[in-house]
Amino acid sequence: MRSSHKLNGNDSSHGASMNTAVVAGGAGFLGSHLCEKLLEQGHAVICVDNFATSDRDNIGHLQHKAFQLLDQDIVNLTHEQVSEAGKIFNLACPASPVRYQISPLETLNTSVRGMDSLLSIARKIKARVFQASTSEVYGHPTVHPQTESYWGYVNPIGPRACYDEGKRCAETLCFIYREEFGVPVRVARIFNTYGPRMDPSDGRVVVNFIVQALRNEPITVYGDGTQTRSFCYVDDLIEGILLMMSDDNDCTGPINLGNPVEVTVCELAQHIVDLTSSRSRIVLRPLPTDDPPRRRPDISFAREALGWQPHTDLETGLTRTIAYFESKLRQGKSILGHERGKQRGSSHQPLAGADVA
Ligand code: NAD
Ligand code: UDP
Repeated sequence: MRSSHKLNGNDSSHGASMNTAVVAGGAGFLGSHLCEKLLEQGHAVICVDNFATSDRDNIGHLQHKAFQLLDQDIVNLTHEQVSEAGKIFNLACPASPVRYQISPLETLNTSVRGMDSLLSIARKIKARVFQASTSEVYGHPTVHPQTESYWGYVNPIGPRACYDEGKRCAETLCFIYREEFGVPVRVARIFNTYGPRMDPSDGRVVVNFIVQALRNEPITVYGDGTQTRSFCYVDDLIEGILLMMSDDNDCTGPINLGNPVEVTVCELAQHIVDLTSSRSRIVLRPLPTDDPPRRRPDISFAREALGWQPHTDLETGLTRTIAYFESKLRQGKSILGHERGKQRGSSHQPLAGADVA
C-alpha cells in the first residue's frame, strides 16, 4: 500500500502571495541553497533562523532586496510577520546527530512546537507548507530499501529519539492540520544529503571525512564501517523540494527524496581518500548507540509522482564538495571555526576546533 495523499482539489493555499516564501532554517546547509534557488526563480524570501547550527556566512551572499532575515526561533514566529507568504518551507532543526544530541529538548521542541506554530500560521494566512522530514523516521529499518509505506522501527527513548520522534510527530501534525483544517502540506523524507556549505564541524560523515582527508589526519570510521548510507547531492535534493511545492504537483506525500545508490561507510572513506589524494589512513572508532545499520531510499514514488530522480553521481558530488572545502583552505579561512560543543557520552564527536589555514 502506498501512503500517498492527494488533495483532491482542495489545495486552497492562495490567500496570500504564492510569490513570497518563508524558509524556516534558511541559514542552514539545505536552507541556504533553497533560499538561493527561490530568489533565482523570482520569489521574495523571508528566512527565519535562530542560528542554532549555522552562521551568517551561509547567507552572506544573498544581498538581495527580495531577501529578508528574521533572526529568531520558529516557535515564536507570528502570522503578522509573514502575512504575505504563500509558501512555508520548514527546514529548521539541527540535522547532525552530534548537534541534535547536544540539545535534545530544543531539538524536540523545534520539531514539534515549531511545526505546530508554522502550521497554525499557514492555516491563518492560507499558505502551503513543506516539511523536511527524514529517513530517520524509519529508524533501524526491517524493510530494505525503505518505502514510504514502511512505518519504521524507532527507539523512542534512545539518544536519537529527540530527532527521530520529533520528526515523526511533526509528520503527524502535518496530517492533522491537513485533515482538520485543510492546510495543504508536503512531506518529504530526506535521506543523507551533502554538498558545499555544510558546517565542517557538525560531525556528519561526509564533512568529517573530507576535512580529515584534506588535513591528512586519520579518517574516523565508526564501528566496522559496514553500515550503509545513500548520499544525495544538494542540488538534486533542492530540485525535488521545489517540485513538491510547485503548483503543478498536489502530492502531499510522504515522499522519499534521496539518491538510491548505497555505499558502506568504509567505501565512502576510501572514495574520499582517493579523490583528495590524501595520506590519511582509516581508523576504527566505537559505533554510536542506535546508529542505523543501513539506509537506501526506494524512490519509485518520487519518480512516479514528481518525475524526479537525482542526477549527480557520488564522485561528481564529492568532487564539488571537496573543491568547496579546498577553496576555504586557500582563502586561509578556518573551516573548523564555530564548534558548538561536544556530544555527551559517545565516540560521535565533532572534529577538534583547530584551524586548517
Ligand atoms: P542545518 O543544521 O545545516 O540547518 C538547520 C537550520 O535550522 C540551521 O540554520 C539552524 O540554525 C536552524 N534552526 C534550528 N532550530 C531552529 C529554531 N528553533 N528556529 C529557527 N531556526 C532553527 O541542517 P540541514 O542539513 O540543512 O537540514 C535542514 C533540514 O533538513 C532539517 O530539518 C533536517 O532535519 C532535514 N534533513 C536534512 C538531511 C540532510 O542530510 N542534510 C536529511 C534529512 C532531513
Ligand atoms: N560516521 C563515521 N565517522 C564519522 C562520522 C560518521 O563512521 O566521522 C558514520 C556514522 O556512524 C553513520 C554514518 O557515518 O553510520 C552517517 O553518519 P552521519 O552522522 O553523517 O548521519 P546519520 O545518517 O547517522 O544521521
